[in-house]
Amino acid sequence: MKSLSTTDIRLLCSGQIITDISSVIKELTENSMDAKSTNISIALQSDGLKQITVTDNGTGIPLNDRDLICKRYHTSKIQGVTQLSTLRSFGFRGEALNSICSVAGKVTIITQTLDEPIGEKIEFRPNGEILSRSHLSVGIGTSVIVENLFVNFPVRKKFQESKLKKESKEIQKMITSYGVANPEIRFVFRSDPSVTILKQIAKSFEDNLVAIFGTTLFSQLFKIHYVFKEIQAEILCFIPQNTSDLKILTKSRADNQFYFVNKRPIQGSFFAKIINKKFRNFSSSRSFPFVVFMLTIDPSEYDVNLNPKKDNVLFHNKEILSEWLEKTFSEYYIPKQKDSSKNENI
Ligand code: ADP
Ligand code: MG
Repeated sequence: MKSLSTTDIRLLCSGQIITDISSVIKELTENSMDAKSTNISIALQSDGLKQITVTDNGTGIPLNDRDLICKRYHTSKIQGVTQLSTLRSFGFRGEALNSICSVAGKVTIITQTLDEPIGEKIEFRPNGEILSRSHLSVGIGTSVIVENLFVNFPVRKKFQESKLKKESKEIQKMITSYGVANPEIRFVFRSDPSVTILKQIAKSFEDNLVAIFGTTLFSQLFKIHYVFKEIQAEILCFIPQNTSDLKILTKSRADNQFYFVNKRPIQGSFFAKIINKKFRNFSSSRSFPFVVFMLTIDPSEYDVNLNPKKDNVLFHNKEILSEWLEKTFSEYYIPKQKDSSKNENI
């Protein structure tokens, strides 16, 4: 038996973190949000296979950090796991940029902070070390350019090529999710040659939903806002009114459901199960309702470190949340009585 080389270990792990084009976009966009950006632009060439660029107007990367940002397990967001109980940022594992370097043909970062008269363009090696650096001014913020993803992973690359259409839908849903949760951020999405999705900064959560989904859909939504007494948590939820014309508010797949924990998009978990079950009993359909569900909760109340994607969470007080959901949605979506009038008329 032999121990694997560090390069091989790095490649094996990176392939699990950066699984596809959307995981690159997710990691880079979350870094931009962590850097307090109000303007984030995502641009793809050849659907992202050739180039993925995420540009923000955030804080920029401090000069002293630049040697380390692409090194594995280097992060500016926590100093130890005890800080997870107060974590407010998306990132904390310090492995995304390093993994991207491992699986891409080339990674370049252009960044400038408020303290600098001029920015810097840095190219990185696959192991995360700096290959070259030069001065370049593009304004305060950061651009990360990822070229030729999976160039040395023929199986992964072929798989990516075979599912580009599905991937493009996933990417649009992901960017829409970030847009929904962040009224204060302007998102621009360009996929070569011309598709552009724009979401401007919105004044309120409601205005933001109108901007993204349109007035017709928004006007048929019901808002629920609840602040828990037992735990530091609150829920803001938009669901179809129980009197709505359900045509525009339902889909056969859960494409129009958006669940967040502290603005982090998560797989619906038990929230989705309860809401979908109550809605289906009510509407007697097999379709999924439009849902925007935002849980704001003290970070000590949950654990998000279940997988590198961090899209699943464990709650300390799950029963308090699920009881509330069961009760609220049972009261709101009361199943319609079966139509017995026909029988009575006979
Ligand atoms: P993590 O987000 O878990 O810290 P990453 O590998 O994604 O790990 O990023 C490493 C570090 O690079 C971050 O901790 C942050 O300091 C810096 N960084 C990455 N992207 C940006 C950005 N867009 N703006 C400012 N700093 C960034
Ligand atoms: Mg990160």
